[in-house]
Amino acid sequence: MTSPQIVWLRRDLRLADQPALYAAAQAGPVIPVYVLDDDAAGDHAYGGASRWWLHHSLESLGNSLARRHSQIVLRRGDAVEQLLKVAEEAGASCIHAIRHYEPWWRKAQGRLKDSIELCLHDGNYLLPPGAVRTGAGTPYKIYTPFSKSLLDHMPPNDPMPEPETISSPEKWPQSDSLDDWQLLPTKPDWAGGIREFWRVGEAAAHERLAEWEDEVADYDDARNLPSVDGSSRLSPHLHWGEISPAQVWHALDGRRGKGWEVYAKELIWRDYAQNVICQTPDYAKQSYRDGYADIWRNPNRGHLIAEDLQAWQRGLTGYPIVDAGMRELWQTGWMHNRVRMITASFLVKHLLIDWTHGEQWFWDCLVDADYGSNGVNWQWTSGTGVDSNMFVRIMAPLTQSSKFDAADYIREYVPEISHLSDDDIHDPADELRGDYPVKMIAHREARERALAAYRQSRNG
Ligand code: FAD
Repeated sequence: MTSPQIVWLRRDLRLADQPALYAAAQAGPVIPVYVLDDDAAGDHAYGGASRWWLHHSLESLGNSLARRHSQIVLRRGDAVEQLLKVAEEAGASCIHAIRHYEPWWRKAQGRLKDSIELCLHDGNYLLPPGAVRTGAGTPYKIYTPFSKSLLDHMPPNDPMPEPETISSPEKWPQSDSLDDWQLLPTKPDWAGGIREFWRVGEAAAHERLAEWEDEVADYDDARNLPSVDGSSRLSPHLHWGEISPAQVWHALDGRRGKGWEVYAKELIWRDYAQNVICQTPDYAKQSYRDGYADIWRNPNRGHLIAEDLQAWQRGLTGYPIVDAGMRELWQTGWMHNRVRMITASFLVKHLLIDWTHGEQWFWDCLVDADYGSNGVNWQWTSGTGVDSNMFVRIMAPLTQSSKFDAADYIREYVPEISHLSDDDIHDPADELRGDYPVKMIAHREARERALAAYRQSRNG
């Protein structure tokens, strides 16, 4: 019998269009391995919502593999050490994996390569980061030219089918039990809302894509309206690799029209974010531009931010659109894109709190928490990024709320004020608020404070 091939699974939890699995299955018996490596990522170890999703996604893929008489070997610890151990136990000499770009995975890929044959495959992005380059041969830094250049190379390669056969090794290496990893919350079980909102796994991703095929035409108009279910909600499926962007692209590409064109550009933002973290690995941890540190209120300089940060996290700022978003995040593990921008801007500009606190909260709460996309979008909103909105462009949350017709969205997530009329609900008068808090800070005051902090930081 030929020696077994290991498939190292990470954020690529699917059978179809999975080039690492496909190549391994053609070369010999396959041992799919997932290693829970909590130390590698440091402050970006999976947060609570990610762990919830990971549990269900591994369970779902394990069931699909069981139907093909295969399984996933689960190990916990240093990913490189565990993979080498499994390889030794199983007599495997080659590891197949889809290339990942988070700095800790790039390090692990480098270490593995020194010890064993590592076959890295592309497949989680429309194109591998760095594949499109400027005329000078350097990777793009700015989204718009990146996007134009990537579009010239589209469509992506045709998706691959599932492997015809996935043969098992003569003997399976020992595996942990998924339940023993305790990825699901118990005391308290805060995941009730997330359970209700999501179906996890490859089949669920394709079902959602099939629904979305009928809806994408309206995307351009509907995507900015939080009260309308107007975006694909494929982000966690894409993040965990339950579906590939090439599968999404090819399913929708025939549906030409404005909706699809705008949607394609959003998918390209996902590629762009990986392109950025490849060039600047610490992008999700520190501002790309210098000179912003003094803008934020800082506990090391005696500023008290804990209470304000907590009010934002709990959805108790007194701004209904902000609070609806933060509560949607807590309850469902997801937040509407426009509201992500509004809540993020509110934290960094209205509350003058360093964006890294927001990035970490989102990292813990989002089921689609993604090192590249989260960091890039936080820095975009904060004005600190390589390509970003200017700091002095301060979003007005109340105007955004009425402009994008968020009344029903607020009713859903801020029940204390759900009885208010469409006119009152965006910015209730104090006497209409009942138990709902008054605004932490008035918009105009916050705006002037932010602009003054910005000017001061610029004057040294
Ligand atoms: P759709 O509107 O249907 O878009 C289709 C797909 O394109 C998404 O599933 C996603 O994969 C990708 N996409 C869309 N917008 C963006 C974007 N701005 N940047 C990168 N990819 C994008 N997205 C994440 O996947 N993970 C994150 O951790 C994340 N953090 C964010 C933090 C902030 C502060 C902001 C403003 C945005 C963040 N986003 C993040 C981007 C965006 O909000 C989500 O991708 C989107 O809301 C997911 O919903 P959807 O699948 O319905 O998106």
